[in-house]
Amino acid sequence: MKNYLTTDRWKIIESSFHPEYNKISESIFSIGNGRIGQRGNLEENYSGSSLLGNYVAGIYYPDKTKVGWWKNGYPKYFAKVLNSCNWIKLDLIANDEKVDLASSEVIDFSRTLDMKNGLLQRSCTIKLKNDIVLKINSERFCSMSHPDIGALHYKVDIITAPKDAKFQIDSFLDFDIRNEDSNYEENFWHNYSSDTRENIFFVSAETRITSFHVTAGNLSVCRQNENNIAGEYHKISSATGKLQFQASVNTGDTIALTKHAAIISNMHVSAQEQKENAYNQLRSVELLGYAKLRKIHKEKWANKWSLSDIEIEGDDSAQQGIRFNIFHLHQTYSGDDARLNIGPKGLTGEKYGGSTYWDTEAYCIPFYLFTAPQEVAKNLLIYRYNHLQKAIENAEKLGFKNGGALYPMVTMNGEECHNEWEITFEEIHRNGAIAYAIYDYVNHTGDEKYIHDYGIYVILAIARFWAQRVNYSKAKQQYVLLGVTGPNEYENNVNNNWYTNYIAKWCLEYAKENIIQLKNDSPSRYKDLINNHNLQAAELELWEDIIDNMYFPKDEALGIFLQQDGFLDKDIIPVKYLDAADRPINQKWSWDRILRSCYIKQADVLQGLYLFEDHFSEEIHKKNFYYYEPLTVHESSLSPCVHSILACKLGDLDKAYEMYVRTARLDLDNYNNDTEDGLHITSMAGTWMSVVKGFGGVKVKNNILHIRPNIPEAWNRINFKVVFRGSELKICILKSKVILHNNSDTEISIVLSGTSHVIEKNTAVTVKI
Ligand code: BGC
Repeated sequence: MKNYLTTDRWKIIESSFHPEYNKISESIFSIGNGRIGQRGNLEENYSGSSLLGNYVAGIYYPDKTKVGWWKNGYPKYFAKVLNSCNWIKLDLIANDEKVDLASSEVIDFSRTLDMKNGLLQRSCTIKLKNDIVLKINSERFCSMSHPDIGALHYKVDIITAPKDAKFQIDSFLDFDIRNEDSNYEENFWHNYSSDTRENIFFVSAETRITSFHVTAGNLSVCRQNENNIAGEYHKISSATGKLQFQASVNTGDTIALTKHAAIISNMHVSAQEQKENAYNQLRSVELLGYAKLRKIHKEKWANKWSLSDIEIEGDDSAQQGIRFNIFHLHQTYSGDDARLNIGPKGLTGEKYGGSTYWDTEAYCIPFYLFTAPQEVAKNLLIYRYNHLQKAIENAEKLGFKNGGALYPMVTMNGEECHNEWEITFEEIHRNGAIAYAIYDYVNHTGDEKYIHDYGIYVILAIARFWAQRVNYSKAKQQYVLLGVTGPNEYENNVNNNWYTNYIAKWCLEYAKENIIQLKNDSPSRYKDLINNHNLQAAELELWEDIIDNMYFPKDEALGIFLQQDGFLDKDIIPVKYLDAADRPINQKWSWDRILRSCYIKQADVLQGLYLFEDHFSEEIHKKNFYYYEPLTVHESSLSPCVHSILACKLGDLDKAYEMYVRTARLDLDNYNNDTEDGLHITSMAGTWMSVVKGFGGVKVKNNILHIRPNIPEAWNRINFKVVFRGSELKICILKSKVILHNNSDTEISIVLSGTSHVIEKNTAVTVKI
């Protein structure tokens, strides 16, 4: 299934109704503002296939773990992002027939995601069984200026109706909602209440166990032509209520409903104050009016795009892809709250939910470093700093001591909540990404103080974990890491995964360097490590020994690093020989067959070459890339972007482009056959990297911005901006030249394809390439 959406540079358009793809469309047309988000569900009743989704960032439920054989150290729960109050729900009833696109005749239909302005619009004409013809135009958004507010404008034109037909529109708040993804089919919400104040009504609920409280308020105004229709409140249950508007209509009439909803959680407002807060917020948006709220929302989007847009000329499909990715990143995370993070599906689906994975550090941090104020990336680091104690406790549960920390593979509040042993206990490379993100942040911003104030404690605890996790192999006379799962989750319990060994060694080096540096730069902090964190000289000596004697599997004849011990014992048959009917293998093959095969889910050795690019020669990159990429099925969304960047480095623009399209249009074209579960939000940051770091070749080395452009044949030009050390640089890459606009009040030094340039403040220079 591909290509049912129209290609457009700024919009995603479904120009006729595809009920068979409805769940996919619902994911793609999701909207959000970082605090609230929802899938692109139809507003009115729909009995066809649909996954209802309304989410509030940070609100989760500790769903009881379901495993066959309990193992010590398992987390007790798997956090689920919570499907919450459905605030868009409407019923439309004409002469006693309820509108339902699954049973009405759909004469025309178009659904548009206007990414420039953050608006979801729909227009459709339907004929009911009773021959009444209605034209619906709806538009909605999650306000970027008022993060607790959702707004909907819903207009129905009566195209054909018998004289004085009965028309009814019911505007709901429906909190009678369950997660599809629930291990024991429990209802995660309870203690519902509903209430009215003047023409506003509220529904509140609380989660079991975690005691999150959410209150939703509904202020709906309905007009027939120019006249208001009085609404009547109906309490359906303590979880659900509606405002009912009734009218007698004739052909040519218009009914228009404007609905503002406030969704308030105790992440921001205490349970006791939520109703009052929702009431006040709704009154103030009422004063502003839908049009003004929409205008301010559009301005907020314009600000976001002004810094983070990427323009691609010559390839509208690639353009649409990158904007789609950037758009959803902004909808998922706004960066102003260190309690929040970026879930792999963001606020667009239940699977993987809003939990935090290593994806944030390995894939998302660069996007925020280059396109947002420094505070945003810093908040993501602080999130992990705030979870340090829990990471230490997590390691203690597994038998580690002396402040060693193992960050969770999946978390909401710092506790591990993934329950597959091969992930929880073995996919320990995640710890490395968390230290790497600190390096990345400091390398980009120059904010060394971050290390002194926060980073050093995280780096130390991670190093302590690795120093205990290795063992010394007498046979090899080297340190080894046994029983791990690398980034390639299609191999479990392997010994000496090259990537894991490499990042473990790097973490120890990075910790050692920083501690030595701290001794000079911040003696008081250094003393704190000695006095309060039990840092001892012997510990650093052990690290040194591990650094010098870590084992790395490799094959000299092939000139490659081995993904793990014994990799070459497998039948090595490139992916291109796989039957199309076998793909994706994770949906077609048994796990046993996958584990024994040579097929790689996502970059593994190549992930290491990507992160530590400068540690290895081009020859090493080339040999490993052309050995491993042909064996890679890219069944993790995180895979193609890394391959695209590496292919750019090797000058293989065809491969880089193929991988770019795959990452940029992963969800739009449903490459992995799973878009209906929700969008792959974290890999969207990878898509951004594939343009800026890949085709743009933008990197920070030794405090200088380096640019090495290499754009695909199909593209005439790429334009994007980057922020770096307080400066904003617009980079326009054409086939034969690069134009650099320094939009800041200080000069900036850069290295372009190996040559240094100084660009004066507020000027542009053109350099031939
Ligand atoms: C990938 C992991 C990733 C997770 C969430 C999995 O399919 O293999 O690397 O962290 O998805 O995106």
